[in-house]
Amino acid sequence: MSDTSINSHVAVLNIKKCLGCGECIDICPTDAIPPLLGLYSALLEIDKTKCNGCGECIPICNHNAIKLVESSNRNFK
Ligand code: SF4
Ligand code: SF4
Repeated sequence: MSDTSINSHVAVLNIKKCLGCGECIDICPTDAIPPLLGLYSALLEIDKTKCNGCGECIPICNHNAIKLVESSNRNFK
C-alpha cells in the first residue's frame, strides 16, 4: 500500500560529504530529513517515502551532500 511514485525526483544524501550540520532539516517541508541527522548522519538517509522532490534542501547544503535524482535511480553514495 504505497503510492510514492508521484514525483519524478527524490533527494538523496551522500553520507561521505554530509558533515551533520543539520542545516537542511528545518527547510524540508515534508520532514523527510531525519531530525537526528546531525548525530547519526552516517546511519540515516532521506526518507524517500516523504520526499516530494522540491529541491529546497539542495542550496541549503554548503557541502553539496544532497542532490535530486530520478526516482528510479536513487543511488548516490
Ligand atoms: S546541510 Fe548538508 S552537510 Fe548539513 S546536515 Fe544537511 S546534508 Fe549534511
Ligand atoms: S527535496 Fe524537498 S522534500 Fe525532499 S528532502 Fe529536500 S527539502 Fe525535503
